[in-house]
Amino acid sequence: MRKIIVLLGPPGAGKGTQAEILRDQLKLTHVSSGDLFRENVGKQTELGKLAKSYMDRGELVPDDVTIAMVKDRISRPDCDNGVLLDGFPRTAAQADALCAMLEDLGDKVSVVPYISAPAEVLIERLSGRWTCRAAGHIYHIKNKPPRVPGICDEDGSELYQRDDDKAETVANRIRVYLDKTAPLIDYYKQRGLLIELDGTLPPETVSQQIMTKVE
Ligand code: AMP
Repeated sequence: MRKIIVLLGPPGAGKGTQAEILRDQLKLTHVSSGDLFRENVGKQTELGKLAKSYMDRGELVPDDVTIAMVKDRISRPDCDNGVLLDGFPRTAAQADALCAMLEDLGDKVSVVPYISAPAEVLIERLSGRWTCRAAGHIYHIKNKPPRVPGICDEDGSELYQRDDDKAETVANRIRVYLDKTAPLIDYYKQRGLLIELDGTLPPETVSQQIMTKVE
């Protein structure tokens, strides 16, 4: 059975950073629902146009389209060795749908690392975050500046600030997280899958803690 790791936590807790580290160490495919939506926005697909209207406000894209998009993605051959899900599921309906789609494929969720951090840390991180256009590598204006301003150390592509990392939208994203996604902490705790991690610790410490549990 392939490994299915679900990264859970508020925006800015470090899910994307952990995904980057764990993807290489565990040889899993990183599936980020936010990245999939941003790809569609960039290509101006119908899904992208719909998603943008929600993303710009920091709201969740409706469950049906989100579930269909992720189901299609994790069914592709590059996910055969296992998947690192980042940003999905974000609602109880999505968690149920994930369970059902994995069951159909003969799989189940292996473990759910839940990374938490206080709201003021999340706000500070998101509002200083710069993201690489090519591959989503993550920087921070103070905590992790790139060697050359505006350029990704890894692949030389342009760094940009996500529209939804602006202050007004950040506050709403955290509200939406508390309202819709935080209930999944109990959902996965009850199923014995949750590992709790302190997202204020250095990223290498958090990833080591996850690796110990996963292996
Ligand atoms: P993220 O990159 O995970 O912070 O996601 C950026 C935005 O994409 C979110 O604020 C939502 O508007 C949308 N989004 C990403 N994942 C989901 C999801 N699982 N369900 C609904 N909307 C999502």
